[in-house]
Amino acid sequence: MAVLEVAKLGNPVLRKIASPVDLNSLLETEDNSIQSFIDDLIDTMRVEDGVGLAAPQVNRSLRIVALECAHNQRYPDRPDFELLVLVNPEITHYSDEKELGWEGCLSLPDFRGLVPRSRKVIVEAFDRHGEKLSIEAEGFQAVVLQHEIDHLNGMVYLDRMPDMSKLSYQAEFEKYWVREPVSSEN
Ligand code: ZN
Repeated sequence: MAVLEVAKLGNPVLRKIASPVDLNSLLETEDNSIQSFIDDLIDTMRVEDGVGLAAPQVNRSLRIVALECAHNQRYPDRPDFELLVLVNPEITHYSDEKELGWEGCLSLPDFRGLVPRSRKVIVEAFDRHGEKLSIEAEGFQAVVLQHEIDHLNGMVYLDRMPDMSKLSYQAEFEKYWVREPVSSEN
């Protein structure tokens, strides 16, 4: 296992459409490089204190994301959810109802931005063993899924912000915004 380098905004890998994973490559039994990559992706997410990490963020342009929230220091007020590794995920349904929330990203360290996201999503994907999964998520987990799957399509949360005046450095976010109620929009 290893901690991988996180690509920062400006690195072209973050703007590419990531390639689908060949599901057969998940099942190779000897020296499975894709399985060790998935282990490294999870390790890197945990060491960097992220709640999600997409393969392009560690310089692999592949359609794999990991997400987990376990007493996260960067999102202390958010509910926990279990580790999930998704291969070739697709969002098949977005709820019309949206909520605004402050997001950060390991590829844009030190920033927070206010982003509208669908409150619920349905995601079709494969797990790391190639089994089909269908996930219905809401609230914070739905936000993280939308954020991470955007990375597979060359997008970052800045691209989703309708109001760039709500982009903030982390320290100023904590000083001016963290206690401000966020009005939801529909
Ligand atoms: Zn991100």
